[in-house]
Amino acid sequence: METRASECVIEFVCAEGARRGWMRRVLTGVAVVALGLCAAGARTLRADNRPAPKGPDEDGTKPALVKIAGEGLMDSHAFQYLTELSDDVGSRVTGTPGEREAEEWGMAKMKAIGLENVHAEKYQIWRGWTRGTAQAELLEPIRRPLHVDAMGWTGSTRTEGAEGEVVTANLFNIDEETKNAPKYSGKIVLVVLQGTPKKNVDSLFARYGDFLKAAGKAGALAVIGGQAGSRASGMNLTHTGILGFDADFAIPVLSMTAEDQGQLERYIESGKKVRVRCNVQNTFTNGPVETANVVGEIRGRENPEQVLVVGAHLDSWDLSEGATDNGTGSASVLGSAEAIVRSGMRPRRTIRFVLFTGEEQGLDGSFAYVKQHRAEMPNHLGNLVLDSGQGAVKEYQLGGRDDLVESFQPFVEALSAIRKISVNDKVDSGTDTLPFSMNGLPGINMDQDSPEYKYTHHSAADALDAVKPEVLAENATLMAMTAFWIADRPERFASPWSAERTAKMLRAQGQYEMLKAFHLWPFGDLGEEKKGKE
Ligand SMILES: [Zn+2]
Repeated sequence: METRASECVIEFVCAEGARRGWMRRVLTGVAVVALGLCAAGARTLRADNRPAPKGPDEDGTKPALVKIAGEGLMDSHAFQYLTELSDDVGSRVTGTPGEREAEEWGMAKMKAIGLENVHAEKYQIWRGWTRGTAQAELLEPIRRPLHVDAMGWTGSTRTEGAEGEVVTANLFNIDEETKNAPKYSGKIVLVVLQGTPKKNVDSLFARYGDFLKAAGKAGALAVIGGQAGSRASGMNLTHTGILGFDADFAIPVLSMTAEDQGQLERYIESGKKVRVRCNVQNTFTNGPVETANVVGEIRGRENPEQVLVVGAHLDSWDLSEGATDNGTGSASVLGSAEAIVRSGMRPRRTIRFVLFTGEEQGLDGSFAYVKQHRAEMPNHLGNLVLDSGQGAVKEYQLGGRDDLVESFQPFVEALSAIRKISVNDKVDSGTDTLPFSMNGLPGINMDQDSPEYKYTHHSAADALDAVKPEVLAENATLMAMTAFWIADRPERFASPWSAERTAKMLRAQGQYEMLKAFHLWPFGDLGEEKKGKE
């Protein structure tokens, strides 16, 4: 991602839901997140007078890590957990019966593994949603079925369906399209990308939400724009997802396969009239709707009040089993807990395993966690999250904490016989690391090498078949070793930064525009470059 912002946007647009992370996957296409990705370059290590940081060979953690690695690699149940979650529980959209079943399942697994203090931490999301059916048919210029699925938390057509002419709206012109929304009355809107994005692409996605509202209000019948104008990745695949943080839209918004969308675009470009019939039925549940994070611990032996959170999101989308998003993460969390418990080693500080829900709706579970544990946050060391699909872990992203990169280095060197993994201070705003980074803590993302994730992501291909058991076992083992090392090393790994320093870091990492656009920036003017000062 060493491209300049504008290139990155284009790349992003073309790649569609290639990115992990709840938002990236959706907007697929939209620039907000791309900016964050592009801006977050790796930092060089700082040189100062402190003694060289100690790795497992010097800090006394190695014997325990060896035991944990042995348990994790030789006696892993991670793939068995993933199989149960995928095939027995199945899809688990936050607030639905499937998701509640997953909570029960997660608690039962944590208890069986031998975690302490296993419980659910309830919170509420703003409203619930259940997928019904989505059908579409091309009527003119030729007749054939089209392949579509509804985006999450979007609405329905009338029960008898809707029929209309397809007209385009250009995402790169989204402000004008929003202003001129009345022209979409009675039409089906196909979102396209024409020309180049104007400056200030950073908040495109937030403004896309305004467009959807305006189109709905104007009486548009439906929007084909789940990928916000870009093409869906993969052969004949759709990709569902939410269209903002806690955002819902009365108008039906559809993800269409790349092949079908290409055909519609070609017709319209050549001046042919396109008519489509669609019937989309979804159900909103009036909120608030209850859900819960699932929590279990290995209590620390010396400083149990100090906590490292190890997490992944238990909720999923519903076009398949949610095996790669984020069954792999959930199974890694359970597998890592199991490896540590079986090793018989107890870390100095507490490791708290959390299966978050609500991630797909806007990181709701991890935001709820930091809210519910507000008083305890100064005692947190950070969180460690795996949510990038099915591939092998390739990079530790330390969530903005450039001060920790150097001390992490000897640890990854100690892992090099298992796998070469790099370290940097990138912020991942697309998963449950963000609320921790926003609280000045290292929200550590275990980024993965998952070239096929762009296909399985939120699609009908997100199934167990896409996951290799040995890769999962190794990822879970690395998660266990990382968690134990952070929690057990003699020196405390991290304490929260001040709000000022955090705000400055988030701005430097290109997160400000996105957070501001979604009304999630809590820091006011903090961290702003002051004019007139050098
Ligand atoms: Zn995910």
